[in-house]
Amino acid sequence: MHVKIPRVPLVATLVAVAAAAALLAAPAPVRAPATAGIVRATATGQTETGRAPQTPTAPGQTTPPTAPPPTPTASSGQEPTAAPSGTVPGATPVGTRPPVVDHGPRTGNKVALTFDADMTDAMRYQLRSGAVRSYANLKIIDLLERERVPATFFLTGKWVEQYPDVTRRLAANPRFELANHTYGHLAFTPDCYGLPRIAEREMTADVARTFDVVAAYGGRQTRYFRFPGLCHDRKALTALAPLGVTVVDGDVVSGDPFAKSWRPVVRASLDGVRPGSVIVLHVTEANAPMTDEALPHILAGLAERGLEPAPLSEVLGVG
Ligand SMILES: [Zn+2]
Repeated sequence: MHVKIPRVPLVATLVAVAAAAALLAAPAPVRAPATAGIVRATATGQTETGRAPQTPTAPGQTTPPTAPPPTPTASSGQEPTAAPSGTVPGATPVGTRPPVVDHGPRTGNKVALTFDADMTDAMRYQLRSGAVRSYANLKIIDLLERERVPATFFLTGKWVEQYPDVTRRLAANPRFELANHTYGHLAFTPDCYGLPRIAEREMTADVARTFDVVAAYGGRQTRYFRFPGLCHDRKALTALAPLGVTVVDGDVVSGDPFAKSWRPVVRASLDGVRPGSVIVLHVTEANAPMTDEALPHILAGLAERGLEPAPLSEVLGVG
């Protein structure tokens, strides 16, 4: 895999804008990072939802809170801060600062579709108040299943707790890998697009807890981890040293959060995609409302380019 030197966040994405917007009652100005030179043109500060308010009573979405807990299929006797041994994809030596990966080797024809499943307290409030119908885009999962497309899902612990049935469905698919996107999508750096910040002393436990939440569902578990907003610094990376993980940023940012049309998402996903690319998308529906419409076009565009989606571990060359 291609490892780069840990750095301050370089990629400004609407991921963070979306998260920030969800946390703020009113649209807020988007802060440009110091390295705004590489900010994608799509990061223009959209802070509004892309679609009209949805009906809270629409069927087939939120799992009732009374749903039974998942059947644990992974070892539960593990120390929470210990990486699984053996060949778990993304596992790195415990006690060392994790590598940060953007993409795999530029050979072959494999690319990784990665879908982040954000969930903040503000988003949960939106659900409970009925302002938002769903942050789980089942159309994406339907399409991936129907077309037998491999994908990797970066799950927040709170999203898993909100959607246990959907998580069970993801874990049951042999083409899907599961990865970690923190417990509640808090910022791990001082300046991450207005996201509320996690205390430094809580970082390790937050990520460890998320691995535990996800592990209960079995399936293709990994030690891949993605920071909210892709924001990380030396302290954040050091906090992950006890966990034996690989940090995955991605080299193709789709800009799907709060997109108002599927076309820019498709364009951003296909511009610059190459063998080994890791494409960052979202499965958060209300916060990424065009992703399901963009996905068929993205898949067609990849096929035209001779590129084939594969699980992240295969794209990074460790599968
Ligand atoms: Zn996220």
